[in-house]
Amino acid sequence: MTSDLQGVLDEVYEAVRPIMGGGSVADYIPRLAAVNPDQFGIAVMTTDGERFAAGDAAVDFSIQSISKVFSLALVMAEDGDEIWQRVNREPSGAAFNSLAQLEYKRGIPRNPFMNAGALVVADHLLSLTPGEQSPVLEFVRAESGNPDVSVDALTAASELSHSDRNSSIAHLLRSFGNLTNDVEAVLARYVDQCAIAMTCEDLAAAGAFLARRGVRADGTRLLSSNQARRVNAVMLTSGFYDAAGEFAYRVGLPGKSGVGGGILAIVPDVCSICVWGPGLDGSGNSLTGMAALAELTARTDWSIF
Ligand code: GLU
Repeated sequence: MTSDLQGVLDEVYEAVRPIMGGGSVADYIPRLAAVNPDQFGIAVMTTDGERFAAGDAAVDFSIQSISKVFSLALVMAEDGDEIWQRVNREPSGAAFNSLAQLEYKRGIPRNPFMNAGALVVADHLLSLTPGEQSPVLEFVRAESGNPDVSVDALTAASELSHSDRNSSIAHLLRSFGNLTNDVEAVLARYVDQCAIAMTCEDLAAAGAFLARRGVRADGTRLLSSNQARRVNAVMLTSGFYDAAGEFAYRVGLPGKSGVGGGILAIVPDVCSICVWGPGLDGSGNSLTGMAALAELTARTDWSIF
């Protein structure tokens, strides 16, 4: 497959070109609203370490919710199944920033990828690794092999000054005893991990440990094979806001999207893929990214179904 993979990526790029610029960029974080929507990139990193890319794959973008995959993996690596006492693993059927279900679920979020669940994971990670800087940054630097990956301070500040919603969720979680650190400290860690800026090429490399069933870039193990399988399962069922079913239907891979327009998708034992197009569809997923991954799995035997 990989012999003609570059050709396949070039075809995918051509297939989505007509819809580039479509959708709407996230505007509730002002810094994201300023991104030029007319861009699209795709990158693949195989489990053999081969890299392929097309389009704007070397342009930095805000990884946003894709960071939630790394924080979950780091918490599971450190603390095994503990986190599942504090967060469920069911699709939400609700918006990413919904707090509706928290009240009757007594402060237990439905999954670790909606904001409520990700805030609990960030809180857990803060307790495990106190300090200002999230270990997520160090992890993605190491896995991508790019020490220059950094938090975009303007994006973090932009989100922090518009975080009434996440702040409400965090306070509600704390009222139920499911947030143990200060709300401000958890929010600061959370917006920082979301504001990490990366390219498709770096992000595909950073996610490749999930294609390698838990093995890091340096050959050491972050997660057991079973744990990696479970992270992939949660990505498949909860990685796309209220469109996980649509993604399974059109693409058929574990994945996680972010409001910055990126999507990280995993083909276990084969490769990890990152696509990016800033314009979002009605569910908050990258319009071109979804289309590109659908084109890619239609041209390969990569769908898990
Ligand atoms: N930082 C964003 C928020 O909490 C992440 C949202 C996303 O990418 O889904 O609103």
